[in-house]
Amino acid sequence: MLFKTIKPLLCDGAIGTELIKQTNQKIPEILNLTQPEIVKQLHTNYIKAGSDIITTNSFGANYPRLKKAIKNLGEINIYELNKLSAKIANEVKTKDKLLFGSVGPTGLKPEDKEFKKIAEYFGEQIRGLKDGGVDIILIETMTIVEEMKIAFEIARNEANLPVAVSMSFKIENGQIYTYAGVDFKNAVKEMMNLGADVIGANCGNGFAEMVEIAKSLKSLAGDFPILIQPSAGTPQKINKSLIYPDTPDKISPYVEKLIDIGINIIGGCCGTTPEHIEVMRRIIDEKFK
Ligand SMILES: [Zn+2]
Repeated sequence: MLFKTIKPLLCDGAIGTELIKQTNQKIPEILNLTQPEIVKQLHTNYIKAGSDIITTNSFGANYPRLKKAIKNLGEINIYELNKLSAKIANEVKTKDKLLFGSVGPTGLKPEDKEFKKIAEYFGEQIRGLKDGGVDIILIETMTIVEEMKIAFEIARNEANLPVAVSMSFKIENGQIYTYAGVDFKNAVKEMMNLGADVIGANCGNGFAEMVEIAKSLKSLAGDFPILIQPSAGTPQKINKSLIYPDTPDKISPYVEKLIDIGINIIGGCCGTTPEHIEVMRRIIDEKFK
């Protein structure tokens, strides 16, 4: 199977937080329309850093999230925006790389009235990503099982592509939960039962905590292909900019541990940069030379 490589595949790092840092645009997905060259440059920087897989700038490109952020959403076609994000990435992607189509949460909760329409919202996003030419649908940063299941089902039905699902976890009093409070074992069981091609954990409280989460995930998931994308920790706001504690010079011991656990795909989430990915590339190549 594609993801059961002995040598882990390397993804990119953050798209959203990097684009926000560079442009001050608070809704990074809009940059696909307004400043595609900046998005393209970021993809290029990740390829130069050694990524095997890059990710579309489409994490929050779903109707409920954009509607909350933009007053006049009327002119934005969600399907086209997602398709464009994939086209931009494909313009710089070489044949030996893979492209993840990023699908993040809608922000809706199962008790919200609008949650009923969630399949429709994921449908337009995933169709756009597929038609733009992504290789794999990545359903990421999920915290609510119901939402993850619907997104997965739509991905399976709408796109004849591999699907990776990844949830966000935190550790509290020694127990692991999703950010919506779902127990770790249940969440992992749900991910495995879906029949996804890859399951994983992303974002969260940084590299050290992710090592613990990855260990637990590996012990439950066994040979199931695993993706791990830690954030660069919880940021502090200093002089209006967000400073992430897990800087590239600090992550090596944790990256080594993650690889030794036997995960199949590694990359970075919020706050990580091409420099973080360069560190990961060096460690992977060193371990598997
Ligand atoms: Zn993140």
